[in-house]
Amino acid sequence: MDNIDFNSTKLTQALVKCKSVTPVDGGALEIVEKHLSSIGFKCTPLLFTDPNSYDVKNLFASIGSSGRHLAFAGHTDVVPAGNEESWRFPPFSATIEGDKLYGRGTEDMKSNIACFMSATNKFIDKYSKDFGGIISFIITGDEEGQAINGTPKIMEWTKEQNISIDHCIVGEPTSDKSIGDKIKIGRRGSINFFLTVKGIQGHTANGHRAENPVHHLSKLLTNILAEPLDNGNEYFLPTSIQVPTFDVGNSAHNVIPELARATINIRFNDEHTAESLIDWLRKKIDEVFSKEKNASCHFTEEISARSFINKEGELTDIITKSISDSTGRNEKPELATDGGTSDARFIKNYCETTELGIRNQTLHQIDEFVYIKDLEELEKIYLKILENYFIKN
Ligand SMILES: [Zn+2]
Repeated sequence: MDNIDFNSTKLTQALVKCKSVTPVDGGALEIVEKHLSSIGFKCTPLLFTDPNSYDVKNLFASIGSSGRHLAFAGHTDVVPAGNEESWRFPPFSATIEGDKLYGRGTEDMKSNIACFMSATNKFIDKYSKDFGGIISFIITGDEEGQAINGTPKIMEWTKEQNISIDHCIVGEPTSDKSIGDKIKIGRRGSINFFLTVKGIQGHTANGHRAENPVHHLSKLLTNILAEPLDNGNEYFLPTSIQVPTFDVGNSAHNVIPELARATINIRFNDEHTAESLIDWLRKKIDEVFSKEKNASCHFTEEISARSFINKEGELTDIITKSISDSTGRNEKPELATDGGTSDARFIKNYCETTELGIRNQTLHQIDEFVYIKDLEELEKIYLKILENYFIKN
């Protein structure tokens, strides 16, 4: 077959050249499928549709029929490049300059998929297809977008097929100063509240006949921001509250508006749930509004992710040992839970899930890049993980 090259740099380049901005695939999944098929993987393309979202191409690929099952999960979609003129090189050209490979998706997360594929190729080469276990790839084309037709549906599909997975590594960029110095064992949750305060419109000179919703909303927000929700814990940073929008939309300086709106985004740790935060907000609103006759506050919420934690276990032990075997470093990787959400939030309901990938430096930025030597190092660590997971010494 043509164009089959498992070199991690070349494979990253091939994937980056596919302009796979969510939900467009751009040929990226086909590259993954072609490579994995060539070494004996059974590949099942999964096209999911839903009335509430765009159609998405996904891929499930596996090799082996019995024994322990280790899955690698990732996404081939990328965020938009932004202003392409601002890039040093065209964002989908996958240009190498010196020791760096530039392009949208190099870090988040095509390089990680490439490295896991190269490592798997070496592993199968060395131990044959009969290594005594199952390796699978769970690859979605929709992680950066709505994620409705992506990983959640692939996981439901595996359940319907009676495929049971023991452990999963999600290849998001987690490393900090060197490859493998940081892995993620959980994530904060995220919830948005959309608040609307209704008062009574009137002339600013007749304040007594009106009720200004801006005053009530600012009081509510001040109360909400007055005290931290918690101080964090062993695994999590403190919960953070941000007010990204406050809108009145009033163009007249002599009119008291009827409505004022604000959004609150909360990134919460495992000391809260979406439900407990909804109760907390209700209480805060009650404190300000329960005695008000002329002003009221309503809100809707959108739960974008629930917080979760996978306490240290077999997978984190194997990953820790493999990083040390491969790099010669002895210090344990940091077990972190910071950053945005990832598809690990869907997979953790099915098996022990940990995230390990390339250095987190330039994702979503103009001039996103990876160091070529980092790719080599990540591939080595992934290969060690496969050996320590499947091959008994
Ligand atoms: Zn990502």
